[in-house]
Amino acid sequence: MSRTQKAIQDFENTELEKMRTLDAFLRIPSVSADPEMKTHVLEAAEFLKSYFDKLGMDEVKIFPTDLHPVVFAEKRSHLPDTKTLLIYGHYDVQPPDPLDAWTTPAFEPSIRDEHLFARGSSDMKGQILATVFALESVLKTGELPINIKFILEGEEEIGSPSLEGFIREHTDLLKCDMILNPDAGMINKNSPTIVNGLRGLVYFEIRIDGPKMDLHSGLFGGNVANPANVLAKIIAQLHNPDGSVAIPGFYDSVRVLSDEDRKKIALNPTSETDFLKITGAPAISGEEGYTLLERQGARPTLDVNGLYAGFIGEGAKTIIPAYAKAKISCRLVPDQDHSNIYELAEKHIRSLVPSTVTVSFIKHSGGPSYLADDAPGLPNLIQAFKEIWQKDVVFKREGGSIPVATVMQEILGVKSILTGLGLPDDAIHSPNEHLHLHTWRKGIQAYIHFLTSFEA
Ligand SMILES: [Zn+2]
Repeated sequence: MSRTQKAIQDFENTELEKMRTLDAFLRIPSVSADPEMKTHVLEAAEFLKSYFDKLGMDEVKIFPTDLHPVVFAEKRSHLPDTKTLLIYGHYDVQPPDPLDAWTTPAFEPSIRDEHLFARGSSDMKGQILATVFALESVLKTGELPINIKFILEGEEEIGSPSLEGFIREHTDLLKCDMILNPDAGMINKNSPTIVNGLRGLVYFEIRIDGPKMDLHSGLFGGNVANPANVLAKIIAQLHNPDGSVAIPGFYDSVRVLSDEDRKKIALNPTSETDFLKITGAPAISGEEGYTLLERQGARPTLDVNGLYAGFIGEGAKTIIPAYAKAKISCRLVPDQDHSNIYELAEKHIRSLVPSTVTVSFIKHSGGPSYLADDAPGLPNLIQAFKEIWQKDVVFKREGGSIPVATVMQEILGVKSILTGLGLPDDAIHSPNEHLHLHTWRKGIQAYIHFLTSFEA
């Protein structure tokens, strides 16, 4: 029996124990957004630390930050010239609300039809433990063929405020040759997936001010500009009829999709029907001339994320609102620069504002897009997935952003392998979040293959 097979067998023999560990981890309500749960976030960090201690890691440490701590662990190989793999994860979870929408309570894990229901099961406590359990079984079968480091944060669900500073301060500790980030996920349970592109983001807010207070619409309507009407008119002018963004210069630096890019994207079997099923939207809508998957990962967008004006309570109230606000974000692709796009957007919007109102802007955040076809270690993981699923991996350009990947590339100089065992219908961030256990088990076997693939 090969070492890989022995390690897989070890995992299978100890699976009940491992399920109990996962169950205990999921019972900790490590909701980073809720100040009342702060001690539970720490409890989850301590849970990881004690498990790493039990595994006999060479170094395990909880680093405090301004808010929730970072857990670091390292296991060094005793073999010469070994490479180092850094595994990233987050042990915090989204709030479980609305509580009454859960069939079983969010922090009382429950298995139904091969799915483990609990907040954090898919995003991403189950994903973290999948890598830890793979390491555990590999350790039992001999010397590690690579050095392994873990960096596990407790603030991902609130935008990772401490992570970048932590990485900057600990570049030696985090020095590595490869990074595995299993917070991305699969397109379906039959298709192991590598995310090879991420979109960037710019997020801002516009505020239109009119009268100094809400006015009676009967007495004043018709003689003062209504900020809500003005804002709606501005927003309506941000897109062209073909669905493209109408900000001048918006597409100037967008990298044109090559035939090869388009072929790679088209290998992803996600269909419009799948997309409609997941979203519940009545129809697909988007920029003309591009496929659904091209629009999802390789074309930029502009969207209103929130809109506020006037009276939004029950019933009727006849006013001209004093102000109106919109939160707007753009998803960006290579080689758009987020600061430049923000400037173009602000300039364009200012040009649309009439002199009957005033406008102000708040810029919230910005981050670059990312391409990682050449992340170190990627061929080993592709092969490992193939061994277990007996299928080629699917590459996906993700519509969202994973800021930690861009931050790590910038500071540590290493591109991340973005993958994971989560499925699109796991209901992450929603009630009844669940993890498909069969996929999770296969994934652990694939991670075992991945780790042993570095044997000389
Ligand atoms: Zn996550």
